[in-house]
Amino acid sequence: MGKHYDELIRLSREVSDYSSIGAVLSWDQETYLPPRGARARGRHLGQLSALAHRLATAPEVGAAIRGAEGEKLEGAAAVNLREIRRSYERQTRIPTELVRELTETSVAARQAWKEARAKDEFPIFAPFLEKLVALRRRYAEAIGFDGEPYDALLDGYEQGMTAAEVSRIFDGLRPRLVALAAKIRGARPLRTDFLHRSFPAPGQARLGRRVLELMGFDFQAGRFDVSAHPFCTSFSPDDVRLTVRYDESFFNAAFFGLMHEGGHGLYEQGLPSAHEGTPAGEAVSLGIHESQSRLWENQVGRSRAFWRHFFPFVREEFPDALRDVTEEEMWRAVNEAKPSLIRVEADEVYYNLHIMLRFEIERGLLLGTVRPADTPALWKERMEQYVGVRPDTDADGVLQDIHWSGGMIGYFPTYSLGNLYAAQFLAAARKAIPDLDERIGRGDLRGLLAWLRTNIHAHGMTWRAPELVEKVTGEAPNPDYLVSYLERKYAEVYGI
Ligand code: ZN
Repeated sequence: MGKHYDELIRLSREVSDYSSIGAVLSWDQETYLPPRGARARGRHLGQLSALAHRLATAPEVGAAIRGAEGEKLEGAAAVNLREIRRSYERQTRIPTELVRELTETSVAARQAWKEARAKDEFPIFAPFLEKLVALRRRYAEAIGFDGEPYDALLDGYEQGMTAAEVSRIFDGLRPRLVALAAKIRGARPLRTDFLHRSFPAPGQARLGRRVLELMGFDFQAGRFDVSAHPFCTSFSPDDVRLTVRYDESFFNAAFFGLMHEGGHGLYEQGLPSAHEGTPAGEAVSLGIHESQSRLWENQVGRSRAFWRHFFPFVREEFPDALRDVTEEEMWRAVNEAKPSLIRVEADEVYYNLHIMLRFEIERGLLLGTVRPADTPALWKERMEQYVGVRPDTDADGVLQDIHWSGGMIGYFPTYSLGNLYAAQFLAAARKAIPDLDERIGRGDLRGLLAWLRTNIHAHGMTWRAPELVEKVTGEAPNPDYLVSYLERKYAEVYGI
């Protein structure tokens, strides 16, 4: 390419290697680290992230970027220059003392949040939320934005997305979701008792392996282990780690958890190895990543066709628990929709409503139209309006999520965007593979994976999320696909 570009790539890969080393340590921390090892591990991780940050923001990087701008770059090289420059600018625009203040405040805020949640006393957390919002506003101003401060933060998680655009999308979703939820509340409840019988972990592990193999997860380039909170992490496309948590008295948790993490894992395994360690070999955004997990977990894993194929394996593994259950009852049961107070327990119908109220509140906090002290009451009011239930406590309300205590404001919309992209992608996949359902019903998921590989995984960060969606589906992110999919499916699940 050119000598400056080559130098830039060398530097980028160095930073990426240190991040991957840190990711190995974090993975180990969550899976196998003995309790007393935590103290030293924290120090090791701190050293590594400081080193990676120093390397990523070093003057040499700036010099290589300026040099590379004079070289004629195309294709992946142009993508790399664009993304490395963007991330360099974002990182160097933020004053070091602001980064330090944010880190320190987050550590203290995390402690306060835990205590506030345990005691159900929001006032313990309130001053920290106030401080974090102020710091994040300064952060947004340091980075700069065209519309409003929220945009600068959202752009850190979902590049190219704005608060106004999220708002437009949510306005399209909200009334139809609220109406669908109301319709379901009026329907006859489904039979779900059997999901809460006994499902010993070894059987769940065998089923997990089977479903991941069916999805096309490469066990020569990945594995899964147990952790308290399931996640997916990747050290390279050839080494992708998933984790799972077994609940022996609830079928759904581990099974759909693994399909979800497996969807993330397939994306990581499908990124182009040739560009490993550079943006052209990285995932586009959190929203696109989440679209891959939700697509496998919900659009595939909760489909009727999937259960036609997979139910016999589940019953073979758990003959007692499922002795009096039909394939159809199983499919309906895993699609049960009912209002809940807790986001992470929400189903496909309610999930996005939980996200909307968080988005509205955090956007207001940054604009100054919502005061931190008002958030508990506002939360309860919106929950009642959107989800139809009102939390009695703040522990089940405004204090339930970890995100804000870590300063993560602007993150929540990526979950819903993931759902929305997933529905839009699957509609496009269906056009390309007209017999998709028959294939899924035969347990043949290879065609779908191949489509995702070609259209999404193989491109790394070539396009930003909204551009990628448009490229793959022929239109901008459109909430109609998600709502239509849900309306269609739930009409069948509940007979409404
Ligand atoms: Zn996920």
